[in-house]
Amino acid sequence: MEVATASRSSAVEEDASRKRKRYGRREEPEEGRTGSDANNGNGEDDEGEGVEKWVPLKQRKKMLREKLDLRRKRKTGANVEEEEQVVEEIPTAGPRAMRSLLDEKVEMLQQGEGEPLDPKQEIQIEEAEMLDDTAKEAKILIPVGQRAKDITFSDSIETSWRPPRWVREMSEEDCQEIRDEWHILVEGERVPNPIKRFEDMKFPRPIIESLRDKGIKKPTPIQIQGLPVILSGRDMIGLAFTGSGKTLVFSLPLIMLALEEEKKMPITSGEGPFGIIVCPSRELAKQTHSVISRICDYLARAGNPQLRTLLCIGGVPFKEQADLVRRGIHMIVATPGRLLDFLKKKKFTLNLCKYLALDEADRLVDMGFEEDLSGVTKKIQDFAKKALVQPVVVNVGRAGAANLDVIQEVEYVKQEAKIVYLLECLQKTPPPVLIFCESKTDVDDIHEYLLLKGVEAVAVHGGKDQEEREYAMSSFREGKKDVLVATDVASKGLDFPDIQHVINYDMPKEIENYTGIATTFINKNCEETILLDLKHLLLEAKQRVPAVLSSLTGEDVAVEEIGGVKGCAFCGGLGHRIANCPKRAHATQKQAAGTSSREVLTGGDY
Ligand code: ADP
Ligand code: MG
Repeated sequence: MEVATASRSSAVEEDASRKRKRYGRREEPEEGRTGSDANNGNGEDDEGEGVEKWVPLKQRKKMLREKLDLRRKRKTGANVEEEEQVVEEIPTAGPRAMRSLLDEKVEMLQQGEGEPLDPKQEIQIEEAEMLDDTAKEAKILIPVGQRAKDITFSDSIETSWRPPRWVREMSEEDCQEIRDEWHILVEGERVPNPIKRFEDMKFPRPIIESLRDKGIKKPTPIQIQGLPVILSGRDMIGLAFTGSGKTLVFSLPLIMLALEEEKKMPITSGEGPFGIIVCPSRELAKQTHSVISRICDYLARAGNPQLRTLLCIGGVPFKEQADLVRRGIHMIVATPGRLLDFLKKKKFTLNLCKYLALDEADRLVDMGFEEDLSGVTKKIQDFAKKALVQPVVVNVGRAGAANLDVIQEVEYVKQEAKIVYLLECLQKTPPPVLIFCESKTDVDDIHEYLLLKGVEAVAVHGGKDQEEREYAMSSFREGKKDVLVATDVASKGLDFPDIQHVINYDMPKEIENYTGIATTFINKNCEETILLDLKHLLLEAKQRVPAVLSSLTGEDVAVEEIGGVKGCAFCGGLGHRIANCPKRAHATQKQAAGTSSREVLTGGDY
């Protein structure tokens, strides 16, 4: 769950900034807090009235840490004051909006003051600190502000969308109940209320019908919470499993925005777009483009203006795309390279652009599009200045997906035997079958081997030309070919509804959950942390654990639930805790080397 990794830390950074604001909340009496709590402090926050009832969280944490002897080179009295000044200027909102789950945990611990902390609680505090530190090291939310140097940004985008009155009037408890029911975790200030029906999200009838005709009747958890967030004009970092319907979360609000704008003031030649969606692969861009175009067609057929969406990807003749631009475009779905090209050539402007979504944001970075993307964001500073204002993090994490509906089979196969064993493995189910591997060379080798053996296979990776890629994708989608071999990069985010069997030729960094059977090849070349994560995932899903994995032993505490977290608080892996997380180590190294892969997430709503 690479994306999860990224935004989990974003969430924490956000949290850190919110903690400051919480200082402004003195007036609220807190039950269960005793005068002695405050007296334990050293008085640096003494502000007179009512203070004995309220000890700032930071200070309470500090006291707790001192107690645990876990205190590090942390804050001095001076910077506490400094932070406090900042805080006074920031208006406060409803009480719950100010707190993160983490804060509440620490506070709960605090309330049990009298008793000594057990080792689990110590781990919890320590992990909270590590997350905090990681977020600070990565400076996740700061760079956009720095990039858009002279520009300050403080307001969310205004939209005219309003939830129905009864939704607005829902109590915090009602909202929380819905979130709990669907395992939705939220972070952020004044998080918009979740909505359980598309109709109540006030989508026009043709949109509802277009969804219905696709068998989409009820929103998924990420949609229940994510759509109201974006429709309200708030920035969002959204995390949820493959197949959980994220595309609609960022597409529907853009369509709504474009429709509204077009109705207000139709765009003319050369104008637009109102929003851009960036994807890591051409295939994914095409898929998202067709999802959007289909909905726009439903709208147009019902008498609404025809919205035009530009598919801005490499490998397609410039001319075709340029023609559409000349007519004026409402939305763009793009890969970074071609988007940058268009911007450089001033094919369109961003004067009207209000919305940016980065799909598979972490993957965009992994693929080395960092440069391109920062180019894009530089180009759109005016737009980027609006990025991530009081972002809301919506995370439908593993908790919601504990009942894996995939049979995971893990097989120990020696490196040199893998390709031959594939044939046998293909016998497990009827087609269609997906084979993922890490390198382009492997894709080519496997493809060639399967063809030689008479298997109807096609292959996709970034090194192939567009024609080949398109042929592979369409023939596989249409069922003319049985097997698609692809790098996981090229296939990330693609939606193949009828897949029977996914073969992970190389142990993937994250396990995608297409339904059906998944076979994963492992051998000595695999990293042990990843194998341990896999082992615990299988255990949790109550699936068979092969001997080679069960003999692996990791940290005992990894699988215990501490502070609401099983496994790693940073990457979500189940076989280790944050202290041993290779991804965290990698992120920290990158940061030290001066590149922050995470800032890119700040560029978008998704
Ligand atoms: P993700 O991007 O989260 O991996 P997608 O947006 O690609 O997932 O959606 C996966 C599939 O689920 C698509 O075929 C989509 O049409 C379908 N889908 C999306 N939302 C719903 C829903 N609310 N109910 C049923 N199916 C849905
Ligand atoms: Mg997706």
